[in-house]
Amino acid sequence: MTLASEKSDQPVHGYLLDGKSPRKQNFALSVNAKGIRYALADGPSGEWGFDSIDWERSPLKARPLYLKSMTVKDAWLVVSDAKAVQDVLRAQNIWAEQNFWRFYAAQKKAAAYLACVLVFFAALWLGWPVVADGIAAANPPALRRYLDEMAGAYLSDQLICHSPDGEKALSEIQRRLAEKHPDLNTCNLVVIDSDSVNAFTIPGNQVVLTNGLLENARNGDEIAGVLAHEFGHVINNHVMRGFLRNTVPQLAISSVWRAVGVMPSMANYAIDTANSRTFERAADASAVILLKDAGISAEGVRDFFARLSKETRNSRAMAFMSDHPATEDRAAMMDEAVAEQQKTSPVLDRSQWLALQRICE
Ligand SMILES: [Zn+2]
Repeated sequence: MTLASEKSDQPVHGYLLDGKSPRKQNFALSVNAKGIRYALADGPSGEWGFDSIDWERSPLKARPLYLKSMTVKDAWLVVSDAKAVQDVLRAQNIWAEQNFWRFYAAQKKAAAYLACVLVFFAALWLGWPVVADGIAAANPPALRRYLDEMAGAYLSDQLICHSPDGEKALSEIQRRLAEKHPDLNTCNLVVIDSDSVNAFTIPGNQVVLTNGLLENARNGDEIAGVLAHEFGHVINNHVMRGFLRNTVPQLAISSVWRAVGVMPSMANYAIDTANSRTFERAADASAVILLKDAGISAEGVRDFFARLSKETRNSRAMAFMSDHPATEDRAAMMDEAVAEQQKTSPVLDRSQWLALQRICE
């Protein structure tokens, strides 16, 4: 290859491949702070800014120096003249220092991707609960149906307790709590024949109490307190919000991270704990209001929670206590509620209470 142009005496520093034809077009170049100006041997000139060069695919150590365009597909500037290569590299070096982030971000794409992933998860972590709550507030029918079906499937696996007097007693508690909060009348209360001490809310505004819970309670006020807490979950739409906040990201994380078994469970734990604490506090706050409005003493629920948390040997209560940990906040809130209440009356009389306790017999 001859380095002298046939058409003019201008020096030849390399050639341009314009990406359109395979023709090598000789050029002479000059370098400035922003890029390379070239003059083609047969006339036109042009400029490639350093910021339009794909540095990742332009190995600086190779000779001749191949510079790939980032904007024009398959376009290359090939600098073969040693002195011109030096000039280009010196100017490029200064430009790269001045454009540190732009240059190195392109060079270190892997690091950039990692940073993006971290930012994405941080945004998800911080922003998702807000988005999830927004979706829950819209109460999309398809999601509601899906959750209701899950609740139905769960209940169909359970032994549900029925006794006319027991159910009447349960309705009486609901009636008292709903007197000033008529929405609560739409809740469905279910007692299941299970030895574990537990109470929880499932989709469709359904509150499930276990027979074990009834056996461990001492009076109707204690059950009313537990119900008030569960109604707090209903009022605050915690089932759907919890599903969207917890389960959806958990499914997403575990499908992304299936290969690394430990990651999802750690993330799940963190997500669950973060949301459940917020939800428990909110349910307690609602429970205090419901009990106050119903004139039912909060002493019942306070004592019941306190008693269960002391009975650490009572493994039947483990599920309930892990969902409803005895926190100082809770104890303080309950104490305050008890102190503030003035006129209260028992929610059930003795025979109603006994009927409720025997609902599964
Ligand atoms: Zn709860």
